[in-house]
Amino acid sequence: MKPKTPNLDTVTTINEDGSRFFIHPADVKGKWMRWRRLTALVLIGIYILLPWIPINGYPAVFLDVMERRFHLFGFTLAAQDAWLLFFFVSGLAFLLFYVTAFLGRVWCGWACPQTVFLEHVYRRVERWIDGDATARKRLDRTPMNPAKMRKRILKHGIFLLLSAVIAHIFLSYFISIPQLWEWMRLSPLEHWQAFLFVLISTALLYLNFAFFREQLCIIICPYGRFQSALLDDHTKNVAYDYTRGEPPGPVKDPEAGDCIDCHRCIQVCPTGIDIRQGIQLECIGCAACIDACDEIMDKVKRPRGLIRYASDAELEGGRTRWIRPRTILYTALLLLGAGVAGFAFTSVEKATVTATRMPGSPFYVTEDYVRNQYQVRLINKAGEDLTFTLATNREEIPFPIETSGFAGSATLSPMEERNTTFVVQVSRDAYEGAFPLKILVEVEPGGVEIVEEVEFLGPTPEMLRRQQP
Ligand code: SF4
Ligand code: SF4
Repeated sequence: MKPKTPNLDTVTTINEDGSRFFIHPADVKGKWMRWRRLTALVLIGIYILLPWIPINGYPAVFLDVMERRFHLFGFTLAAQDAWLLFFFVSGLAFLLFYVTAFLGRVWCGWACPQTVFLEHVYRRVERWIDGDATARKRLDRTPMNPAKMRKRILKHGIFLLLSAVIAHIFLSYFISIPQLWEWMRLSPLEHWQAFLFVLISTALLYLNFAFFREQLCIIICPYGRFQSALLDDHTKNVAYDYTRGEPPGPVKDPEAGDCIDCHRCIQVCPTGIDIRQGIQLECIGCAACIDACDEIMDKVKRPRGLIRYASDAELEGGRTRWIRPRTILYTALLLLGAGVAGFAFTSVEKATVTATRMPGSPFYVTEDYVRNQYQVRLINKAGEDLTFTLATNREEIPFPIETSGFAGSATLSPMEERNTTFVVQVSRDAYEGAFPLKILVEVEPGGVEIVEEVEFLGPTPEMLRRQQP
């Protein structure tokens, strides 16, 4: 197939007839590739190890959906505290915007799971089995034969295996490693929902990394579309120094710039673009073209850095300003968000108490009493035993009330949750109508008092008199 010449009006990976142009980026060596590989190794290590590293008795990240608890680096959030995850998710998103303002799409090229797994895991397997870019393109063009079939089966078999491993690790973030290991040894039908989850995740990962690849970044991921709003003239991007490189031409041409028009930067690009045409939506900032061009510059004995991390201001002969209105505003917002999140996380109570009316009738009238029944839910979110002692604001109520059900106090072990029934009744003779009731729960150690306000409901005194037994 003829090599494509990228241009700004079309997407390289889509042919004119709408079919896919499958990219096989050439191998590249260099400083940035070494750093990217090291970063990928560390990130993959973190992904694998997080469910194994215990902090305060739980995996560092454990989203325990069955117990409705979220363990994040030593913090434990109950389902009631799930709103705090908003800070976590929005904080990460804002951090991404923040970094983009300084360093462009460094996230995409260096740390996004899509790039990390595709470039440093799946493509490495592909290179190992199918050879370099030229060999891979040749193999694509070759009609199916036994040798090609063997390679395809081996490659896709390993891709499927890798996808299954990644999917299982992902599941371990929700059910813990020991549980995962136990379930894996049982019949899939025992926990069919988890099995289905792994099956679908494996299929999606396989299809993405084997076939869809850079299309996810170009077509689906919304982040690339935000970038023009996040970047400015002082953002450091992977950029071609047009002042030095233009016009491109042969090495011996005295009129030509430093670019020798070798197309090496296009051959190594995983999205098939020509960085010499400027910053583009498809550029994931992977820096492969920097290494590729540096290699060429070494060969033609010209200074490195024709493609480099540089801002537009720098390319135009000025200096990159790190401190500017946009970055000051972003920093202020980041600090504000971090402050609010820090306050919210540290003010999470170690216990939760909720009191709700029992399902059914809101009140019951017996021969002697008007009665309300509540369900009191106690949750110990601390890493130690907690004792919950329940009382009411009976001294503020102008007539005597009687309580039963919850037996004064209860001790719950760490992360234990208990539902108890609490009954409040007023004798018919003393009853004067509905009144606000406070359920006061003292939690020890720590002396925390939690107040739940409920309403004691009943008929009006007149109605009650008419219903005299
Ligand atoms: S690799 Fe460098 S010299 Fe070759 S085309 Fe790209 S920018 Fe020009
Ligand atoms: S243009 Fe360069 S930095 Fe951008 S995706 Fe292509 S190789 Fe990576």
